[in-house]
Amino acid sequence: MTASALPASPLDPAALRASLDAWAAELGFSGIGVATIDLPEDETHFLDWLHAGFHGEMGYMARHGRKRSRPTELIPGTVSCISVRMDYWPQESADAAATLADGNMGYVSRYALGRDYHKVLRSRLQKLCERIEAEVGPFGHRVFTDSAPVLEKALARNARLGWIGKHTNLIDRHSGSYFFLGEIYLDLPLPVDEPSTAHCGTCAACMPACPTGAIVAPYRLDARRCISYLTIELTGSIPVEFRRAIGNRIYGCDDCQLVCPWNKFARPTREKDFDVRHGLDHSQLAQLFAWSEQEFLEKTQGSAIRRIGYERWLRNIAVALGNAPSSQVIVAALEARARHPSALVREHVRWALAQHAPSTAAR
Ligand code: SF4
Repeated sequence: MTASALPASPLDPAALRASLDAWAAELGFSGIGVATIDLPEDETHFLDWLHAGFHGEMGYMARHGRKRSRPTELIPGTVSCISVRMDYWPQESADAAATLADGNMGYVSRYALGRDYHKVLRSRLQKLCERIEAEVGPFGHRVFTDSAPVLEKALARNARLGWIGKHTNLIDRHSGSYFFLGEIYLDLPLPVDEPSTAHCGTCAACMPACPTGAIVAPYRLDARRCISYLTIELTGSIPVEFRRAIGNRIYGCDDCQLVCPWNKFARPTREKDFDVRHGLDHSQLAQLFAWSEQEFLEKTQGSAIRRIGYERWLRNIAVALGNAPSSQVIVAALEARARHPSALVREHVRWALAQHAPSTAAR
């Protein structure tokens, strides 16, 4: 948090809160609210989740102790939190269900088809801070976009941006769940919003829809089974027990959100930064697998996908190719990588070729 100084004009918290809605809309946010930073129940839920080991290899989830659920321990001086959301479903993109149903195509989670959201949100949050500073003078603040130990969904719920659904994503009654979240911790005492109420009701559609059974109970996600974790967070070998269920999902998964009835209210983003890049919404697996490392780096420049690196990119596509309908094109693509320098890639290619063994023998 930057050093705070006396504001240029006396702070009128209610007037500042009223201005936030207009500034947020100008900056492309689809929602904004102010959250109370007391999260005792969410802290208990989070610690239970950690103790169950559901975070898997994500050691960073446990590393910061209670700082994640106690904003004042992470950033001393914090008295309130501004929470924002920004829609990401691209204006133009291939039909998600059709891509998932075509085993020759690779499915990339809709949030990752455009520019890396970390960069977009961070810069907009900084601009929002500049607007606030122009109004009230220097103030202490820090901005976050999935970048620090912050219980962002709990804060967003407290800021009236939505409720945490049984699939553990945030949902808004009027916008669905296809949005990113960002936060500003600040030392200004703003009036807080009433938390959102929950509206899952008796629905449980997301639970059986998860291909790997990662939603082990309502509001309880075993990340070790989640395809987003397996294809993005996990650094090593993807457990064999999940490979068939991964299907053609090569970066993340949207299945629990695709079936959620509230997403019929979701609207495409107006953000050009989230436009689909390089046709990643409808690409042939064999073509993606043929990318050189140089092509991977070029085509994922400025994209969240680049974070997993080329080796894991090939690992993920190898699994999807193993699940693709058998054909000479698919088998040839895999065989071309059978002697790849990476043991991780070779192991996944071996598994994938074994899935096509009858057709390989018949060639
Ligand atoms: S699919 Fe149903 S249970 Fe799951 S998050 Fe949406 S409304 Fe809640």
